[in-house]
Amino acid sequence: MAKIRPETQLVHLGRNPKYTQKGVNPVIQRTSSVIFNSLEEKRHATHNRANGVLFYGRRGTQTHFAFQEAMTELECGAGSVLYPSGAAAITNAILSFACSGEHILVTGSAYDPTQNFCDKIATKLNIETTYFDPLIGENIGDLIRPNTSIVFLESPGSITMEVHDIPAIVKAIRQKSPDIIIMIDNTWAAGVLLKPLLLGVDISIQSATKYINGHSDGMLGVAVANERCIETLRENSYLLGQTADPDTVYMAGRGLHTLATRLKQHETNSLIVANWLLEQPQVEQVFHPALASSPGHAFFIRDFSGCNGLFSFQLKSRLSTEQFSEFLDNFTHFKMGYSWGGYESLILGYQTEDLLSMRQYDYQPNKGTFFRVHIGLEHPQDLIDDLQLAFQRI
Ligand SMILES: *Cc1c(COP(=O)(O)O)cnc(C)c1O
Repeated sequence: MAKIRPETQLVHLGRNPKYTQKGVNPVIQRTSSVIFNSLEEKRHATHNRANGVLFYGRRGTQTHFAFQEAMTELECGAGSVLYPSGAAAITNAILSFACSGEHILVTGSAYDPTQNFCDKIATKLNIETTYFDPLIGENIGDLIRPNTSIVFLESPGSITMEVHDIPAIVKAIRQKSPDIIIMIDNTWAAGVLLKPLLLGVDISIQSATKYINGHSDGMLGVAVANERCIETLRENSYLLGQTADPDTVYMAGRGLHTLATRLKQHETNSLIVANWLLEQPQVEQVFHPALASSPGHAFFIRDFSGCNGLFSFQLKSRLSTEQFSEFLDNFTHFKMGYSWGGYESLILGYQTEDLLSMRQYDYQPNKGTFFRVHIGLEHPQDLIDDLQLAFQRI
């Protein structure tokens, strides 16, 4: 059979006739108890409960199995586990593979709550974290200790957008200690723009809250693992009581079918806005992985197949408190809010000290005020007009 292209793959994913029952989409199955008609049936279910056989609601229903199959295929893994949020996916993946007395390496540009988990929960369990510069490349080998059990990546980094040299990092780790589990927060790529498991990463984690769901109306996490990690990940998550509700899982699965098209439009729009920002006299730098001005751009070009709507930019000067409010409080289309990956545009602002508190490496920011934007599906000229007015306000 001819190789299926990503757009086509996304239309088909999760629509195994086992789960669609003659409809186009998988059924939404809401159940806690699963009824066994015989002791033999119960035995069979118990034996196969980790492999897509109905056993008990917390192990998943047809709706979960359909989406899990889709995600496993999308991320080229051996299996996937669902969680009530992206944050739960991250923390459970780490807890599944780190023991008390061990050491983990985490990118210093990781999503802020990931860092907070390491600093506040992992430390309590006597798991020590060392943060590293996201552009460390092969030098990560120097940070590995005899008790290092996990390396946690995120690319591009949250807010500051550094793209890792993943193959160099993986090679250095495998040379030094093949048993280390390498995980990545792959939310930015949505499982489409980067295939970490094909680069030697063991577990790819996503907040499906973002582009996969795509409409800012559901929270869900997913981790796709390779053969050597899936059983441990699945069993630990089950023991830790992780589950996701079928309605949200259904919406995430529905989101997959329009994901390629949405991502392409987010990409087009974000490049238009980013290139406009580059030309503005007030702007010092644009941190958009597809632009040469962004850290790790060469690795982005080599490893990613495209970009989306999320990027950052920095002004030449620091806005005063009044200007900061003037800039952010009066947008028509950009809304101020956390998260991203929906159809709508968002903006968040950071002063240097805000950024420094979230960067756990030798980060040397310029003094200018920093903004992260999510470029949605509005017409990009309307977004540019909105930004133009904001620049005039300051
Ligand atoms: C939003 C986000 C998360 C957390 O996901 P939730 O579903 O909000 O818990 C994790 N990593 C990244 C990069 C994110 O943007």
